[in-house]
Amino acid sequence: MITRTAPSWHTEDWQFLLSDSIRTVESLWSALNLPSEGIPAALSAHREFQVRVPKPFLDKIERGNPDDPLLKQILPVAAELEAHAGFLKDPLAERTTNPASGLLHKYKSRVLLVMSGACAVNCRYCFRRYFPYSDNRMGSEELDYIAGYLQHHNEVNEVILSGGDPLVISNGRLAKLLNLLESISHISRVRIHTRLPVVIPQRIDAELLDVVSRSRLNVVMVTHSNHARELDAVFDQAMLGLRKVGVTLLNQAVLLRGINDSVASLVDLSERLFESGVLPYYLHLLDPVAGAQHFDVSESTARTLMQQLHAELPGFLIPRLVREIPQKPSKTLIDLHLSEV
Ligand code: SF4
Repeated sequence: MITRTAPSWHTEDWQFLLSDSIRTVESLWSALNLPSEGIPAALSAHREFQVRVPKPFLDKIERGNPDDPLLKQILPVAAELEAHAGFLKDPLAERTTNPASGLLHKYKSRVLLVMSGACAVNCRYCFRRYFPYSDNRMGSEELDYIAGYLQHHNEVNEVILSGGDPLVISNGRLAKLLNLLESISHISRVRIHTRLPVVIPQRIDAELLDVVSRSRLNVVMVTHSNHARELDAVFDQAMLGLRKVGVTLLNQAVLLRGINDSVASLVDLSERLFESGVLPYYLHLLDPVAGAQHFDVSESTARTLMQQLHAELPGFLIPRLVREIPQKPSKTLIDLHLSEV
């Protein structure tokens, strides 16, 4: 049981909460009362990929518990500094599918827009830790170019907003983007991949709901939650608001060693998501990005976990276990050999 103290933030203003994040190793250590011997390695890891933790997420971490599954997702550690064969800076070879600044066109019917290089939280396992965001600016010139590109690609019917985190942009910018996409007749769907509602659920404010409710596009939101303890009553309210304006809610998680690599943890996550009206969509094997090898769970372990999940949950609460392989025309589903269960 986690003892809750008064929150370390006192506002529902998501932009304030975004700017008021923990951004240094020293402030993280002091806020969580962590043992000081971890600081030198953390400083080195922070130089590679900066610490960033918003306070609503920080408050869900149990002080004094080094095994806290939320802590492990944001804590810079010595293991990040080790080099391992096969763990690369661009594990998905995204730089080969990047026809214009801010645009990735990997799969036939959908394109991905890198709306921002910023995130509300820096997850230590992030496969875009080294993504060249500075070469992928998304200003009005780039958006005009992308609109032209989409006009000429009739096969694209879905636009995926990604990042960084696409919901760090203002509601005004989001509204303009949706207007632009609505003007292209063959675009019918927009999918928003975001971790913001998990780490700052206040992001789903009335203005955002209004913007989304006015769009002719089908809106899908894929929340990125890895653990049931990340989800709280504010998240529930946010999801309820989105459901009321017709947004389809899905979740994708990453299978992470020491964080959610147990049947109990995955069952809890699926059940908790469903309580909020969110369906589990994908469970990703870790993309082999340099610095994240300590989170890796082997494919055979993942398969065993999934087989056990099938015995615990109804089919609609079981995410699809997938891996992303560069140059493949879609994500690769991992065969579970269920007949052997
Ligand atoms: S929120 Fe997503 S893009 Fe941002 S650091 Fe975490 S995993 Fe990476």
